[in-house]
Amino acid sequence: MLDALRTEASACTRCRLHEGRTQVVFGNGHPDADLMFVGEAPGFHEDQQGIPFVGQAGKLLDRLLEGIGLTRADVYVANVLKCRPPGNRDPMPDEIEQCEPYLFRQIELIRPKVVATLGNFATKLLSGKPTGITRVHGIEQETTIGGSRVLLYPIYHPAAALYTPAMLKVLEEDFARIPALMELEVGVPVSLSAAVAEPEPEPEPVAVQLGLF
Ligand code: URA
Repeated sequence: MLDALRTEASACTRCRLHEGRTQVVFGNGHPDADLMFVGEAPGFHEDQQGIPFVGQAGKLLDRLLEGIGLTRADVYVANVLKCRPPGNRDPMPDEIEQCEPYLFRQIELIRPKVVATLGNFATKLLSGKPTGITRVHGIEQETTIGGSRVLLYPIYHPAAALYTPAMLKVLEEDFARIPALMELEVGVPVSLSAAVAEPEPEPEPVAVQLGLF
């Protein structure tokens, strides 16, 4: 299913970005991953290789993953936009609108427990809220994406730490919470909840499970 979607995306001409791309950067990693990362858009190296996060920001992502005992093969990595914007400019609203069905379908097919959004674009798109990353990084929220309950976990984009070294500590701290978040019980899928004869007890609020109260 994910492969069929990849094939469909590889011929996409829904927005202007198809004109300048070398290839579509659909996503890569474990197709059943419990943890998925969503970045912004492919850069030069990603456009060349067809794989997300293979440039400098990607090397840092690999290191941050290693810090919590994971490798790229354990997780799935994708972007809001599947094609490189010229000169690595910001995604435009109409490009996001045309491309977002691919991302939502990826989440629906992969069904990750935790979706970590890297930076503003992914965070605003998947939270459906305009609040920026500075205010919401490191704060998880339960939400429904593609019919499944997921824990959305906004973190800074690794590229931010390339320009602002002090940001590395914040990123490491936010990453350090990921293993515990993956253990949390996030609500039953919407499609199953109606079929449960005995209602399950409500899971503790996330902050309580984490021992914050
Ligand atoms: N930055 C992103 O947001 N995505 C990539 O794939 C590479 C760099």
